[in-house]
Amino acid sequence: MMHPILEPGAMLGVLGGGQLGAMFTGAARRMGYRVAIWDPDPDAPAHRVADESFSTSFADHDTRERFIDTVQAITLEWENIPVELCQWLEQHRTLRPSSAVLRIIQDRLTQKQFLSSCSLPVPDFAEVTSEHQLHQVISRLGLPLICKTARSGYDGKGQWLIRQPSEIAQFEQILSTPSSGVRWIAEQVVTFVRELSVLVVRSGTGETRVYPASENRHEQGILRDSIVPASISLSDAEAACELSVRAVAELHGVGIFCVELFQAQDGRLLINEIAPRPHNSGHYTLDACTVSQFEQQVRVTCGLPLGEVRLLSPAVMVNLLGDEVTTVLSGEGSRETFSTPGASVHLYGKRVIRRGRKMGHVTFTAPERATAVASAQQFLSRVHNLPSAIPSAP
Ligand code: AMP
Repeated sequence: MMHPILEPGAMLGVLGGGQLGAMFTGAARRMGYRVAIWDPDPDAPAHRVADESFSTSFADHDTRERFIDTVQAITLEWENIPVELCQWLEQHRTLRPSSAVLRIIQDRLTQKQFLSSCSLPVPDFAEVTSEHQLHQVISRLGLPLICKTARSGYDGKGQWLIRQPSEIAQFEQILSTPSSGVRWIAEQVVTFVRELSVLVVRSGTGETRVYPASENRHEQGILRDSIVPASISLSDAEAACELSVRAVAELHGVGIFCVELFQAQDGRLLINEIAPRPHNSGHYTLDACTVSQFEQQVRVTCGLPLGEVRLLSPAVMVNLLGDEVTTVLSGEGSRETFSTPGASVHLYGKRVIRRGRKMGHVTFTAPERATAVASAQQFLSRVHNLPSAIPSAP
């Protein structure tokens, strides 16, 4: 069945106004659409580039009425939008992805249970809500264990690593604090050789496109850089894409999704988590692909045919975290960065610099993968040598 197309000139609504929302807005406006951003934080970067902006709480009923009066279709750039709001909005406007998908993805435990019930491979996991349960889980899964809050953690926040028996007591204390009431998921720590991610776009008619897998490195739980293509065999690349496509199809997901995977030392591919939106590891698509992840999000939201996902060039995307951003802004640093062939600088316009905060990124493209990697490494060595003006978190 052909779905109606929302034509240029239409106003698209975005829930969330971070850098992903701002980059979506850039793509949408280039394609002739207008954008309304709803983010309770008046300082969220996407407000400044949007045609309309709403900065009240997501619980505000007047705003939700005004929002649907303003927009013709809605998407999101953050998975933790209240599901109740999404359910209400989708009764009035197309929402991509749907509230049903969010309900599964918002909760790490529900998400892993879902993937596992579809026979998709994930690290061994179990729910932990009490000290008693913790001991049962440890005897079943062993140590080390990584414990994550079921809800609202990101960039490694809300995670607790238990490496050895002496570290169990500390986590027991967290579990027993009366105020906690938090559900945790405990996962076996995967000894991985690399982390991968795969972007999957799926339309309302089930048409699917999949980008090549990128190889991601994290530092202290935060994405440091992404390299495309990943240094894996053709059959592993195909297997990663096949798993990712299957996971999104099982979700009946409509939108753009990022499937994060581990390639374990024993060769297995395991799904870590799925983001129902564009992803930091997919920023390379802005400079190195025929159609970017943000343009795909516009296309899916408007019911347009999906775009080609061809990689035009090998690429390395390096995040600028906290005051590393001064590397590209200060005099000599700026000259060096901008004179590197294939370097493309993206700054998010965030007013406040905080340690580890994603302030921008630089993508290095080159005809040869090795050249892009060398440029990124050189850049990173400058970034790492930068004395930080921001004190470490206590
Ligand atoms: P997450 O917030 O779940 O994406 O976790 C952030 C980072 O922590 C991942 O990108 C991995 O580097 C690491 N991590 C998370 N879960 C595991 C696991 N089960 N085994 C090993 N490393 C993990």
